[in-house]
Amino acid sequence: MTVRPMQVLYVSTEIHPALKTGGLADVNAALPRALCEAGADARLLLPGFPALRDALEGARRVASLAPRFGADTINLMRGSLAGIPTYLIDAPALYGRPGNPYTRSDGSDWPDNLQRFALLGLIAAAFADGGIDAFRPDIVHGHDWHAGLACAYLAARGGDRPAAVFTVHNLAYQGSFPGDEFARLGLPAHQFSMHGLEFHGALNCMKAGLFYADRITTVSPTYAREIQTDLHGMGMDGLLRSRAGALRGILNGVDTLHWNPATDTHLPAHYDALELAGKQRCRAHLAGTLALTPGEGPLVAVVSRLTPQKGLDILLDALPSLVARGFTFALLGSGDARLESAWRKAADGYPGRVAVRIGYDEALAHRLIAGADMIAVPSRFEPCGLTQMYGMAYATLPLVHRVGGLADTVVDASPAALERGDASGFVFDRPHVDDLCAAFARARLAWSDAPLWQGLQRTGMAQNHAWSVPALEYLAVYRELRPQA
Ligand code: ADP
Repeated sequence: MTVRPMQVLYVSTEIHPALKTGGLADVNAALPRALCEAGADARLLLPGFPALRDALEGARRVASLAPRFGADTINLMRGSLAGIPTYLIDAPALYGRPGNPYTRSDGSDWPDNLQRFALLGLIAAAFADGGIDAFRPDIVHGHDWHAGLACAYLAARGGDRPAAVFTVHNLAYQGSFPGDEFARLGLPAHQFSMHGLEFHGALNCMKAGLFYADRITTVSPTYAREIQTDLHGMGMDGLLRSRAGALRGILNGVDTLHWNPATDTHLPAHYDALELAGKQRCRAHLAGTLALTPGEGPLVAVVSRLTPQKGLDILLDALPSLVARGFTFALLGSGDARLESAWRKAADGYPGRVAVRIGYDEALAHRLIAGADMIAVPSRFEPCGLTQMYGMAYATLPLVHRVGGLADTVVDASPAALERGDASGFVFDRPHVDDLCAAFARARLAWSDAPLWQGLQRTGMAQNHAWSVPALEYLAVYRELRPQA
C-alpha cells in the first residue's frame, strides 16, 4: 500500500531572503522545506507583495478569482520561493505596495489591513474545495494573526474540511480591528461573539486562530506555558487555558543553509567547532569595520528589532557600568524611534566601545554574530528567539533573560551545569538592570578562564537545532488530526 503524503497548505506572509521583517521569515524559509524533506507535500500560500512576486520562480497562473475586498483582479500564481512550492495571491490593489508588508513607511498600519489579510484567509479556506490547482490540503497551517481568519473561514464551511493548525509566533501582535468591520468579512454572524473572534467588542484575528484552529502550536514549550498566564497571555490566557489540550510548544530550529559558520558567505573567514581560528579573524574584521577598539572583556553583539519586548532599554541602563568593566558593544537594529536615538547617543558617548548601526542589514547581522564573543538577548518576553541559537552555532555565547524560548535553549553556566558539562551561556532571572549586570559579571569571570570559555563555546556549537526535529513534531500534530494521510 502506498501512503499518500500529508498535504499541507502553509499560510503566512514573509519568507527569507525575499521579504523579512523578523524571525518568522527565517522559519518560513526552513520549516516547509523540512516538512517536504520529511515526506509531506507542503506548499506555501502568501500574499503577492512586490518582493515576493519578483522572487517567485517559474510563475504561472493557476486560478483567477472573483473580485473581493476591493481588489478587482485576483490571480493565483504558482511557482517556487526558497525552493518551496508556492502559491502567491496576485491582487495588486491590496498587496502591490513595496516596503514593509504590514505598515506604511511612517510605521502606521495600512488602513485596509483587515481586507488584505481577510483575502489571505478566504483563499486559504477556498482550497478546501479542491478546485484550485487540484490541491486539496489535509491541513491548513496558518501563522500568526495574518492567517488567523483562515481558521474562521474554514470553520464556517463545516463538514468535511481540511483541519486547521495555527501557530503563534508572537502573541503581542493580534490584528485587532473595530467590531463594525466584521460585516465586511462575509462570515456567519454567530462568529462575532465571545465564543468566536470577538474580543471586548473588537474583531481580533489572533483570537480567530486561537478559537477556531483544531490545534494551536507555539514556538517553544516554555512560551506555550507562559501564554496561559496573566503575565504573558496578552489577554488571551483564559482562552488558551481552556484550549490547553489542543496547545503544543514546538521549538524552532536553525536553518543551517544560511546560518553555519563553516559556509556562511557573509563572513570574511570560516570556522567550525574543531578549528575556531577563523572566528578571531571575523572578530578583527568586525572591530575594524565598526571602528571598535575592544577592551579587555568580551565584545557583545545585539541584532534585534528595537521594541520594548526586546529589553534593550535595560541593557542601555547597564551600559556605563558594563563598559567600565571592559565590555564592548555592537548593536544592529531598527524600530522604535526613541530606542534608536537612545542607542545612537550611547554610541556617541563611548566611541570605540559602543557601535550602533540603525537599519536592516542581513550581511552585517551575520558578521556581528560571528565576530562577537557574546550575544545579548535580554527580552522581557521571547516566544522562541533565533539569534541566541545562531550565537551558539557561531561560538558566540548568549546572555539571555530566562523566559520563553530563551529559557528552553540556553543553559546557564551555574556550578551545577558546569559540573554536568551542559552549560552554554549566561541566564538571568528578572528583567532588571541588577540581574543583567550580575550575569555579565559572571560572563566576565568566565572570559578570563580561556579553557572554560572554550568549553562553553563547544557545548553551544554541539547543540542540534536542525529543522528536521521540529518538522517531525509538526507532522505528528497533523497526523493526530488526519491519521489516514
Ligand atoms: P523576532 O522574530 O522577534 O524579530 P527572532 O530572534 O526570532 O526575533 O528573529 C530575528 C531575526 O531577524 C534574526 O534572523 C535576526 O538575525 C534578524 N534581524 C533582526 N534585526 C535585524 C537587523 N536590524 N538587520 C538584519 N537582521 C536582523
